Amino acid sequence: MIPYGRQNISDQDIDEVINILKSDYLTQGPKVPDFEAALSQTTGAEHSVAMNSATSALHVACMALGLGPGDVLWTSPITFVASANCALYCGAKVDFVDIDLTTFNLCPNELEKKLVQAETSGTLPKIVVPVHLCGQSCDMAKINELSKRFGFHVIEDASHAIGAHYQNQPVGNCRFSDITVFSFHPVKIVTTAEGGVAQTNDPELADRMRMLRSHGITRDQGLMTKDSDGPWYYQQLMLGYNYRMTELQAGLGLSQLSRLNEFVATRNEIAQRYDDALSSSVFDTPKQHADCYSARHLYVLQLDSERSRLAHMEVFEFLRSEGIGVNLHYIPVHLQPYYSEMGFKHGDFPNAEAYYQRAISIPVFPTMSEDDIRKVVQTVLKVPAK
Ligand SMILES: *Cc1c(COP(=O)(O)O)cnc(C)c1O
Repeated sequence: MIPYGRQNISDQDIDEVINILKSDYLTQGPKVPDFEAALSQTTGAEHSVAMNSATSALHVACMALGLGPGDVLWTSPITFVASANCALYCGAKVDFVDIDLTTFNLCPNELEKKLVQAETSGTLPKIVVPVHLCGQSCDMAKINELSKRFGFHVIEDASHAIGAHYQNQPVGNCRFSDITVFSFHPVKIVTTAEGGVAQTNDPELADRMRMLRSHGITRDQGLMTKDSDGPWYYQQLMLGYNYRMTELQAGLGLSQLSRLNEFVATRNEIAQRYDDALSSSVFDTPKQHADCYSARHLYVLQLDSERSRLAHMEVFEFLRSEGIGVNLHYIPVHLQPYYSEMGFKHGDFPNAEAYYQRAISIPVFPTMSEDDIRKVVQTVLKVPAK
């Protein structure tokens, strides 16, 4: 079975991890700051706070922005559950904004409509989390404009999008947001096995996130609220967690990051092959906005039921039976049982639900062989038309 995504581990990656195993530090050494500096270099954000996952980074980002009980966070229903769960960890509520049916990203016009209504009812969100689905940036200029007009914070969930560009600038530079989060899970663009980062240009947010990832503790005199007792001294200033990244993860990440441009270029080449080969299939191929260079984390086809003889489920089963490890990104979060219990139901976000009825992710990852790519194309073209 050709999986929908897979990591690319080189001999250099392996050597780097072995060297760290033989070094003095397995955690809290020099590699995490080195990796953070390299991440800031990559995107142009001033501060990078590496953590043990993007989920942790989203949680810490929400805490640093003061999200708490009585507050609301809005995100897209077409995302991994972590984009929404981060609000619940803080005791806040979640609501969703429907997607745009050409990019599958949170729709800025829907967002504006919902903000206007929320302003009259006094239920404006404290944070909006746009998700750069498949690696293609949301319309951040418009979202930024709305954030100023309605006074909310923005956390970009860029888990799919390291190496992507928006308006010719790297995603992650936080030009249009308070914080950007990336994931380094093995299916993502670069991996640290588990891992994530929060980036920001705001030094105070960066300090708070650094404390929150490590118990709420600081050893920085400048941040302490009373005099130091001595050289052993540290202060706990808030309730934090242990969300630290290890040296092994950071070393792997540094080594992977040196191939970021290559990874993203290869993903784009494969996507271009699919665009060309599958344009006259029973599927619609994904559209790219002119402002965006996608990292191509996912390649999502949309089944056209007018053209296809098989239903969505049958297509899924057919492709899997032929050895193509198709997947579905994502089940609308508001339809998850846990979210239904909060009162969300079918019909709440019709575009997200329509997308879910048609979406199929086909394999895209940089170590796909020529044979893999050809096999995916040929098998997708075998899905019969009416
Ligand atoms: C993968 C992913 C996450 C969570 O990342 P982890 O590093 O696994 O915690 C969050 N949001 C989106 C959109 C993701 O794809």
